[in-house]
Formats: sequence, C-alpha cells, structure tokens
Amino acid sequence: MKKRPVVSMDLGGTNIRLGLVDARGKVLRRRRVPMFSAGSKHALLKALGDAIASFIDANGDLPSPAAACIGFAGPTKASEGYVYFAPNIRRMSDIDVGSYLEDFLGMRVLVENDANCAALGEYWHGAGKDASSLFLFTLGTGVGGSLVIAGDLWQGHDGIAGEVGHTVIDFKGPKCACGQRGCLETLVSATAMIKDYGKRKRLKTRSRAQAITAKMIADKAKQGDRVAMAVVESAAEALGVGIANVFHLYNPELILVGGGVSRAGSILLAPAVSRAREAIFPQLSRRLKVRRTRLGDDAALIGAAYLAHHP
Ligand SMILES: [Zn+2]
Repeated sequence: MKKRPVVSMDLGGTNIRLGLVDARGKVLRRRRVPMFSAGSKHALLKALGDAIASFIDANGDLPSPAAACIGFAGPTKASEGYVYFAPNIRRMSDIDVGSYLEDFLGMRVLVENDANCAALGEYWHGAGKDASSLFLFTLGTGVGGSLVIAGDLWQGHDGIAGEVGHTVIDFKGPKCACGQRGCLETLVSATAMIKDYGKRKRLKTRSRAQAITAKMIADKAKQGDRVAMAVVESAAEALGVGIANVFHLYNPELILVGGGVSRAGSILLAPAVSRAREAIFPQLSRRLKVRRTRLGDDAALIGAAYLAHHP
C-alpha cells in the first residue's frame, strides 16, 4: 500500500502555513492562513486543531494523513510534545501541544522547533542534501539554529540545542528579549537591522520606523545607500562571528543560512563568510563551507514531514 501523506504546519508570528506532504517529500497541497490571537491556552490549541482539521477536510480527495507535525518558532521538547515558549505567539508558553492535538485530531502529532524542521527539510531535499553534518542559521524576525548529524537532529538534553540566536556575540551589546545582552539575534535578525537603521537615521516616530523592512534596507544597501550599507556590514560581521563559533563548536561539513534576511544575498553573506574565515583557525579556514538554503518557505513543511515519515 502506498504510504499516506502527513500534514505539516509551520506556525509563525504572522502566518500559519499548512502542507500535505507525501513520503518522498513532495508538497501536494498548501494553505496559508493568518495567525490568530486567542484568549486562553485552550482556545489557542482548539484554533490550531480546527485549522488542521479544516485543511484536511478541504483536501478530502487525497488519502487521509497518517500524522501531523507542527513547527514552532521557539524552544520545544519534541519528545514530549511540549512547547516551552514561542515568543511571537501569545499564550504559547509551557503548553502540552502534542497530547491535546492527538486527542483532538485522532492521529499521531509531533511538535518540533521550526528551525529544526527547516534544517531537516534542507537535508532531505534542499541545499544540504546528503551532507554528513550541517548547521542551519535561520535569520528572520529572530534567529534560529539547528544541527543535523547523519540525518538526525541533535536536540540536546532539554530539546533546546542549536539556539544560536541566543549565544552572546557582544556581552555589552543591545538587550535581547531573553534578558541577555548582545545575543546574535540582537545583531543580525530583521528586527535588529530595522532598529539599527532607525537609530542611525534618527527615525524618531514609531510609524516611520515601522514602515522599514529588512528587505528595504538590503535593497538600499545594494543601491549604495551609506546608512543601509553600514547596517548590513554590521549585521554581516555579527553573523560571521556566529558562523565561526559554530564551526569551532561543531565543525559541521556544511553551514546553511536561510530565513527572510538571508534573501539579502551576497551583500550580507560574502562579508559574513570573510569575517568567519578570519576568526577560524587559519589552517582550517578554507574548510568552511557556507551556502544559502534552497527550499524557501517550504523547508519547514518538508522537514516536519521528514520527521513524521521517519519515526
Ligand atoms: Zn537572547
């Protein structure tokens, strides 16, 4: 009998992406819905269950899914279906998502950190295909990370391994949402770059600062805007130090950089790689291999399916 597909869900602060993914990693159907806000944890879980159930109903012409896997932007203990917290989603903290949704949907439900899902997706079908070991940086609103060794996630004792966004690059740097100073996330995320740009431009009003996006800053930098160039250079330097740290810690065969901010392309990545090579043992700096991810928004959906299809 042909293997049934699985439902993948990628839960972000703004949007929820859903996919039906077959055993070979092909996304058969997709849906994107805006993220909702919920008045209680129970309402949030029910809304997630409803979103999955309605997606399954709408694709009733396909074989019914065998399992669901949900990726969260936040630390999770996947083995217990538990989300410690997801900073971009209200009410999503200390919450037992797995067992609630298993009862609600009547199928096996896995939960995982979204960067972990994306890394597995890239390993299965993307820029990290068949790499013996890889580390993924996801540069978005925040900064995530994930380590994949021989096709398996290295989750760590408590499930939070790879949280590179909260490794400290500059201990006197900007304050981070986690309480520390100078975490990588405060220096190279979209949020950090927008803040840095606003500060350098002395944008006083919130509305003017809010109109800026990381993509606009990258575009301006490519056109030679000096302030935007300085913002990108500073972000690239922090990313380079972060890459060198990961290289020294894990020495993976491949380092991937993905997420919305990575779409800035070589204007960000080239100086980051140069900076990383400067910081790596000189005898080994040429061994550093950095690539951009390839699967875009599908990476987390495909990687979540990889987990469900490879129990
Ligand atoms: Zn932090």
